[in-house]
Amino acid sequence: MAAVLVSWAVAQDPPKPQATTSAVRCGLLLRVENGQLQRNVLITVQGERITEVKENAAPPAGAQVIDLSDHTCLPGLIDTHTHVLLQGDITAADYDEQLLKQSVAYRAILATRSVHRALGYGFTTIRDLETEGAGYADVDLKRAINNGVIPGPRMRVASRAMDVTGAYPLVGYSWEIDVPHGVQVVDGPDNARKAVREQISFGADWIKVYSDRSYFVRPDGVLDDIPTFTLEELRAIVDETHRQHHKVASHAMALNGVHNSVEAGVDSIEHGNYITDTDMKAMVEKGIYYVPTIYVGEYVAQGRAAAGARVWLDMIKIHGDTFRRAVNAGVKIAFGTDAGGFDWGVNPAVEFPYMVKYGMTPAQAIRSATMNAAELLGMQNDVGSIAPGKYADIVALKGDPLSDITKLQQIDFVMKGGEVFKASGH
Ligand SMILES: [Zn+2]
Repeated sequence: MAAVLVSWAVAQDPPKPQATTSAVRCGLLLRVENGQLQRNVLITVQGERITEVKENAAPPAGAQVIDLSDHTCLPGLIDTHTHVLLQGDITAADYDEQLLKQSVAYRAILATRSVHRALGYGFTTIRDLETEGAGYADVDLKRAINNGVIPGPRMRVASRAMDVTGAYPLVGYSWEIDVPHGVQVVDGPDNARKAVREQISFGADWIKVYSDRSYFVRPDGVLDDIPTFTLEELRAIVDETHRQHHKVASHAMALNGVHNSVEAGVDSIEHGNYITDTDMKAMVEKGIYYVPTIYVGEYVAQGRAAAGARVWLDMIKIHGDTFRRAVNAGVKIAFGTDAGGFDWGVNPAVEFPYMVKYGMTPAQAIRSATMNAAELLGMQNDVGSIAPGKYADIVALKGDPLSDITKLQQIDFVMKGGEVFKASGH
């Protein structure tokens, strides 16, 4: 039987395409390694990878030349916090409607548009941090992209995510009605381990947990919360995930959620609107990443405040202060936006100006979306900078993003794995 399968596989294999050579001529190249702009650089690409990066060089004979001499090139951007299966949820009603009135099939069709847009904006890699009730549809989207069925970024996916009973939407419905949940509901360390095993077996690259909810500002200005998982449960999740050589992303916006996540040894803190100085120190020591997602807070705040939750307006101020302290404390920061939490018609690169406003240099902000993000994803040998051996994930724009960070919202050339996806400037 095995022999039959092998010969079938050989017979079905399409002929290997000849690795084409192309040469991308960049007027300027932003070296994210040192934040310097290099003039007149030629990037040689063979198949899907970069073979050479050289100043003032002539293209190899027979290479297809892509002329970006009036552009600034930089590595493909990486968004480490997206939801391609979500199409904006300012209010609870927006969220509930997607889970109650849209089938997973329809949501997956909408998600093909989200990934198309993400790539068009210049995000050649994303970490999609849970499907919000759409099961393992992210695993299928990733497969469709990898198989060349639909265009989209390289994906790392978290599948269903986890929260405890009663903590995650949909909530507030009659106890007589069974409603869908945006997560896998998990209680107790043993069930938590089982859920980790199940999600990984169905294709999750990352495990996502929700560590807190119900945020409120105390009179002393501290953003407090109700923690969801017990420390014992969180430790079980982290241990089981790490045992299988995967990583844990923790949604933690406030005091207890962040503290418990850091104690349990998760790999990234998502949102982190409020983090104590002590927890920041522990994050530095343990190498835990901070994925701040500043813009989405501002996006949802007005709507949620109008719906009665004024705390979201206070959280904006607290978030800015936390981000500034994290930059000064040397916490590793990876770019993430929560795109999908806001409409995919908005370019997630709107996050960059907020990072600069709250204390990063433009070069630091761009590094957070390239080298740092690649390292968080364990993909630093493949993406995150323009260097020989890495995938030819190259984007370009007109102007200098170091003097105007909003230029990152106007990327008009996108190459992923040596294939040009967008070249509207030409
Ligand atoms: Zn999110």
